[in-house]
Amino acid sequence: MKFGFDIDDTLIDLRAHAFSLYNQKLGKNVSFETFQALQRVEIHEPFGLTDEEGSAMWNSTLEEIYFTNCPPFKDALETLQALAESGHEIYYITSRPKQYCAQTKAWMEEQGFPITEGRFFCGMQDTEKVAIIKELALDIYVDDKPAVLETLNDVRTKVMLKNQSYNQHVNLPRLYDWQEFQGMLQK
Ligand SMILES: [Mg+2]
Repeated sequence: MKFGFDIDDTLIDLRAHAFSLYNQKLGKNVSFETFQALQRVEIHEPFGLTDEEGSAMWNSTLEEIYFTNCPPFKDALETLQALAESGHEIYYITSRPKQYCAQTKAWMEEQGFPITEGRFFCGMQDTEKVAIIKELALDIYVDDKPAVLETLNDVRTKVMLKNQSYNQHVNLPRLYDWQEFQGMLQK
């Protein structure tokens, strides 16, 4: 089968990692419970930043957010490795900015994610992912972001939603825990 995965906040816990970096950099101690209750993808509000300040903070911290020690979600790595070992095709589709694509691919390989040449797509807009997903004729695609998922209504691909606080309104098969992924495929 052909499996497609978003990276940030689907396979790796990027926002939580960024949240802890913001606490360090801003000398704050905003709780993890506050993080878990956020209703939007952006994380700056609990730090008292406006959207404009938040966007500037995100962009100036981006390389550190991307390329330090952001952890994968529990069992995500093992799940993808098992799929690859069983002979399935694994595709990554990330809207990270173009200038970070090569380093992102290398970073993902360092973490142990199985990557085959030609199956790493990066640098498109969120709304452009749908074209790649259709062209590849993926069997399964997993993402977290409502803006992406809303574009995937008419694809034949089975779309799964990585559960997050900000996507509770989206009505799709919901992946809470990577350990459940293989079991969800049978349904
Ligand atoms: Mg994502």
